[in-house]
Amino acid sequence: MKREAIFEFFRRLAELNPDPQTELEFGNVYQLLVAVTLSAQATDVGVNKATRTLFRAVKTPVQMVALGEEGLKQHIKTIGLFNTKAKNVIALSEILVRDHGGEVPQDRDALTALPGVGRKTANVVLNCAFGAETFAVDTHIFRVGNRTGLAPGKTPLAVEQQLEKKVPQPFRVGAHHWLILHGRYVCKARTPECWHCPVVDLCAFKAKVLAKGAKPVGTRGERAGRPAVRKARPG
Ligand code: SF4
Repeated sequence: MKREAIFEFFRRLAELNPDPQTELEFGNVYQLLVAVTLSAQATDVGVNKATRTLFRAVKTPVQMVALGEEGLKQHIKTIGLFNTKAKNVIALSEILVRDHGGEVPQDRDALTALPGVGRKTANVVLNCAFGAETFAVDTHIFRVGNRTGLAPGKTPLAVEQQLEKKVPQPFRVGAHHWLILHGRYVCKARTPECWHCPVVDLCAFKAKVLAKGAKPVGTRGERAGRPAVRKARPG
């Protein structure tokens, strides 16, 4: 996608949603870190349901350590992988208390050194809590980046590096939200809703679904934005 088209792409998404926010609920930076850690392979709706009562009782890492692993499990047992996540949240809270004065560090390396915190989680926290120009590539951004031609890449890191290079100001802080929301509600995995997509004329995706009810075309890989791997015919 050319430079002017990329600017126009974000200008339109920004016009429709001038102040995009994460759909995870939190009251402070520490709660955001916990919510994002819990959201791996889970929906924001499911995480919010569990954290609503948890966050009324726990606002700091000290309070989380006091709650303990078993206590935390009781709050988050409706979330997938809750055993591992509970262990990680307690361990990361202990480290925040011990090494960071109970504060969430504003540094990617320090964040990714915490248990259960990968690059994507760190990027979300840096973006949403500290306003950093980071691009947390989740499944939605990976798909939208590849389908549209905005940021093609075979891995989340490759897509992130493309976004780093290509997203212009004044859209760099909001880009991560606009792309997630676009992927979640319009450029959906199974059937992209191109018939009401605000960037349809800028998008390079070949298998657009231009009428409601029409069947998506192409292989699953092509619909995900990946080039198809065709098997060679024998003989
Ligand atoms: S036109 Fe279709 S494939 Fe392209 S961004 Fe819009 S919804 Fe996604």
